[in-house]
Amino acid sequence: MAKLDPALWRDMMGYLRQKHATICRRWFEELEPRDMNGGILRIGTSNSVQTNYLQQRCLEPFTEAAQASTGALVTVQFVNGRYGLRPFQENPYEPPATGQRSLDASVATAPRSAVAEPSVSGEIVISPDYSFDTFVTGPGNRLAHAASVAVANQPGTAYNPLFIHGGVGLGKTHLLQAICQKILRSGDGVRLCYVSCDAFVNQFLDCVQKGEMNDFRKRYRLMQVLVIDDIHFLANRERTQEEFFHTFNELYQANHQIVLSSDLPPAEIPQLEERLVSRFQGGFVASITKPTYETRVAILRTKATLRELSLPDDVLCYIAAKIDSNARDLEGALNTVQGHGSLQQREITLDLAKEALGEPKSGSRRSQITLQQIIDLVTDFYNIKLSELQSKRRQKSIAVPRQVSMYLARKRTRFSLEQIGGYFGGRDHTTVMHAVKVIEQRLDQDPGFAREVEQIDEQIRNTRTAGSI
Ligand code: ADP
Ligand code: MG
Repeated sequence: MAKLDPALWRDMMGYLRQKHATICRRWFEELEPRDMNGGILRIGTSNSVQTNYLQQRCLEPFTEAAQASTGALVTVQFVNGRYGLRPFQENPYEPPATGQRSLDASVATAPRSAVAEPSVSGEIVISPDYSFDTFVTGPGNRLAHAASVAVANQPGTAYNPLFIHGGVGLGKTHLLQAICQKILRSGDGVRLCYVSCDAFVNQFLDCVQKGEMNDFRKRYRLMQVLVIDDIHFLANRERTQEEFFHTFNELYQANHQIVLSSDLPPAEIPQLEERLVSRFQGGFVASITKPTYETRVAILRTKATLRELSLPDDVLCYIAAKIDSNARDLEGALNTVQGHGSLQQREITLDLAKEALGEPKSGSRRSQITLQQIIDLVTDFYNIKLSELQSKRRQKSIAVPRQVSMYLARKRTRFSLEQIGGYFGGRDHTTVMHAVKVIEQRLDQDPGFAREVEQIDEQIRNTRTAGSI
């Protein structure tokens, strides 16, 4: 097998930095070209979390870079293990043939067992970005962070269950993934499953339908660490709650760790059985609240370092002062600024940041965007009618724009979930919450879709006028 010329590898990384700056991360330094054979360039990673993430999220740009640098029709494949590191299992989705399951296998095999493949949207790809090293602590999250670290160090002993709640974009998923990565790195063969509540519910329904409940139970009850993101999606799901209650008890009684995140505290999750509320409250409940200005600056600084992006202090302070909602919006702003800079091949300065974030011309008063304006832009973009958006029709060509509208309405206006739901044909607040969640997940996983939504969002930012619902 031929080794890749180091100069070609440098070219490739240079290409990525130039053409796909927003996907580049500091930890890419750990990647290493392994060999090139039969038109396949194999790139070694440090662990299966990186492999899975790169394979799912970065395959296209890497392939493009490989083709541009070699001038040949090369395809890229990510594999666990670099030279000089301990050998990893080649295929993270296949458990080792004998003996104890390897740590790397457990995270990937658990949600992917043959019983019921979760739908792609329900499956969570752990991001190497979401580690404890990159989590900034502040007054609003210190307790949640400390409890997460304790759980990651000693699963099943410190706080069980650990229940983290807080509004969107405040770092719940980040902490959950940091816990998973820390436990996985500890390398002692623990069986860990990280799943979204959506995927859990879907697998459950699927197994009920196929009569495979034993497999479902076995799969979850075998876990030593069960991490479920956005458990508030159990709201109003009576049968899944019942099943989850039994899974919970079995794991809990065996001193296995359970970690849950939710937008709401246990007692406020609509229609959550009393016995589950009391189980959730029986462990450690930590809330996360909005980051302070200082924390926002520190988050931006950490994100910039992770992306090897040099951001002047005045730009950091400007973004932190302007975006006070949550860390996800901060990251969105950073994306927009970075994207503007690289598109126009300009250095990032305060002027560029102001331009990118749609600073109103001096003297003009920033005002509220109306729901109708959002809907007009979305219906225009997707070429559908308002009546379709407000109808009960569930086909994808209408459901997706409807969910995008709800997501943007939530992000860009101060209307409540109920008000937004009401405007979209009398839907209740859980439907709006679900739509926001679905879109957020897809934004994370589908760069093409993220660009679409960003285009509409940019128009919204440029269309602020006085008005109301
Ligand atoms: P949630 O699950 O609460 O909706 P996420 O964990 O998805 O929020 O966080 C949204 C974004 O904000 C992620 O990019 C995450 O890394 C970032 N983030 C949130 N809180 C912090 C923090 N304290 N330090 C660094 N990044 C953070
Ligand atoms: Mg989340």
